[in-house]
Amino acid sequence: MSVLVYTESDNGKFKKNAFEVASYASEVAKLLGTTATAISINADENESLGQYGISKVLHVSNDKLKLFNAKANAKAIIAAAKQEGAKVIIVSSSSDTKFLAPIVAAELGAGYVSNVMAAPESTAPFTVKRSVFSNKGFAHTQILTDIKIIGVSNNSFGLVENNVSASIEAFSVEYTDADFSTKSTEVDKVVGKTSIADADIVVSGGRGLKGPENWGMIEELADILGAATACSKPVSDMGWRPHSEHVGQTGKPVACNLYIAIGISGAIQHLAGVSASKTKVVINIDPEAPFFKAADYGIVGDAFDVVPKLIEKLKEFKAQNA
Ligand code: FAD
Repeated sequence: MSVLVYTESDNGKFKKNAFEVASYASEVAKLLGTTATAISINADENESLGQYGISKVLHVSNDKLKLFNAKANAKAIIAAAKQEGAKVIIVSSSSDTKFLAPIVAAELGAGYVSNVMAAPESTAPFTVKRSVFSNKGFAHTQILTDIKIIGVSNNSFGLVENNVSASIEAFSVEYTDADFSTKSTEVDKVVGKTSIADADIVVSGGRGLKGPENWGMIEELADILGAATACSKPVSDMGWRPHSEHVGQTGKPVACNLYIAIGISGAIQHLAGVSASKTKVVINIDPEAPFFKAADYGIVGDAFDVVPKLIEKLKEFKAQNA
């Protein structure tokens, strides 16, 4: 009985959350006195998972799975879980895995808990801490089924190195046309930019920036920090920025290490999507802006004055520390 972990990849490259869920699986395996096995689909460099404590990788190589398909990917996880006799299955809490985990849970009769924030509090009964109500509270949830599926929140457990040598085994899954009853035909991606979901740092702008012509400084700041750019809902509604950058309750959730909010008031619907981020820095001209209550660091000032100064200082710092 090993712990099974589903490691997500894109175009052959593991996503950052793959290493985080691998770290988490390795920790759970240690608590249960067993080993951690990964299932990877069309990923290269599978041996890199050994760095995070994975001793075996079941590798599925199948052109039909090049674009994400919840039903077909779930079938591979179910087959791997049955082969390995896995009692605990670890996945991320990405939107893709939130589609496939319920399919796996239904087929295996497993209990599934998403948005898990930390290593299990206890393994008997199996209890995990998860965020609820758009990260406004925590629930301590027991999973009572024989098989358990845990969806780990991005950036909650972190990467924990635990070097072992990973054996790689080819794993084939029998597919029929019925497994592909829905099919993605094309995926349009923003290229050359860090995606909000994978970013460690996000620089986000709101209506306080007055217009799309002022986004140059946001992009420059993001470039220097290696960050992704994001925005509030009205900014994308007005077409100043693409909808893919809209974060919040009705946009994308962000769980990064550093979220810099510039000219964003901090409405509850915006905060709902960013409260899982570790450190929040707010730049706003209005000292009464609600975002300051949720901020770790705040600068009361005009963005058009503060941001260029920040860029200059960061450039100096980089030059001195190159
Ligand atoms: P504003 O509220 O207009 O705030 C602009 C801020 O910029 C102000 O605080 C102001 O002091 C500051 N400012 C002005 N000039 C400067 C300057 N020169 N320098 C620095 N600061 C300056 N919103 C989201 O973002 N995401 C969501 O997912 C979302 N979902 C919603 C769902 C529902 C059902 C509803 C009803 C609303 C939703 N909203 C969402 C909208 C939300 O309620 C707010 O209206 C929105 O977040 C405000 O965006 P903003 O902060 O950019 O603009």
